[in-house]
Amino acid sequence: MDAIAAAQVLSEIGYLLRQNEAERFRAKAFAAAAWSIVVSRPDIDALHKANALTTIEGVGAGIAKILTGLIETGQSSYLERLRTEMGQPAREDESQIDLSKYRGDVHSHTKWSDGKATMLEMAEGAQAMGYRYLGITDHSPRITVVHGLGAERLLEQSREMAEVQSKVEDVTLLQGIEVDILEDGSLDLPDAVLELLDVVIASPHVKLRQEPASMTERMLRAVSNPHVDVIGHPTGRRPGSREGASYDFEAVFKEAAKHKVALEIDCDPARMDLSPEMARLALECGCNFTMDADAHAPVELFYVPMAAWMARRAGIPQDRILNFMDVDALTSALG
Ligand SMILES: [Zn+2]
Ligand SMILES: [Zn+2]
Repeated sequence: MDAIAAAQVLSEIGYLLRQNEAERFRAKAFAAAAWSIVVSRPDIDALHKANALTTIEGVGAGIAKILTGLIETGQSSYLERLRTEMGQPAREDESQIDLSKYRGDVHSHTKWSDGKATMLEMAEGAQAMGYRYLGITDHSPRITVVHGLGAERLLEQSREMAEVQSKVEDVTLLQGIEVDILEDGSLDLPDAVLELLDVVIASPHVKLRQEPASMTERMLRAVSNPHVDVIGHPTGRRPGSREGASYDFEAVFKEAAKHKVALEIDCDPARMDLSPEMARLALECGCNFTMDADAHAPVELFYVPMAAWMARRAGIPQDRILNFMDVDALTSALG
């Protein structure tokens, strides 16, 4: 069995367990094991034969037992049972996601804001993944704690990007921003700046507890901005610690579809946002998607398969996910 497929199963188990407060700690253990496997990609068949699954970081006896069942039968009866218990059974209309066709991530961070790596390290990371492109989308000024970028620093950043691009030729670097959606739905950078960028991800980060009617207005205004390409982690939820924003999702998703603004499935383990259930609603509303790791270090680029199981469960056809486009189709889709 492929380590990625196993990691996806453990991740979904963790995701389902997390919906039950009493299972918080087990949920964390499954999630940690999943992310450890997706990053290290061990030969789990060999480890199974050697009775050594517990040598994988984060895999204790209980999780090893689940993995054993999975490796021996190709499916997890435990996951099936959980899905049923949680009212989220396997469905006929799940999609097929072929990760070998994933062309690149459009949402990532560098040391220009709160990333842990330089732009060159991130670009080399994308190259090692076989990506054709990488969106560099650091934060906008509002996020002062991370030294967000205004017009002047974006210009400086573009000079560095030209240099990095000359060193990492087979990955097209897209200069972008993760711009904050302010309380009134305006964006944290002027249109004149946004229109110069290759990719604009607008994300809700603060004041997520706004009451639903004004939150709806806020999100409707953001998706209607002609420079916005993607809504990043559209609910702002942090499972286990913070509820996401509550708004008229259907109205906002329909408006996003109308303006060809994609919704993100952010598989940062602390986010998992949109959730598969919300992504299914967005699909029904006609939206396109991005599947992004929101990587703050090269190793986090390995997270993407977790977004893939979420998209599969949501039934999203691969051609509705921008990251499967080649760079020309992507840049024209981004406008
Ligand atoms: Zn964000
Ligand atoms: Zn981000």
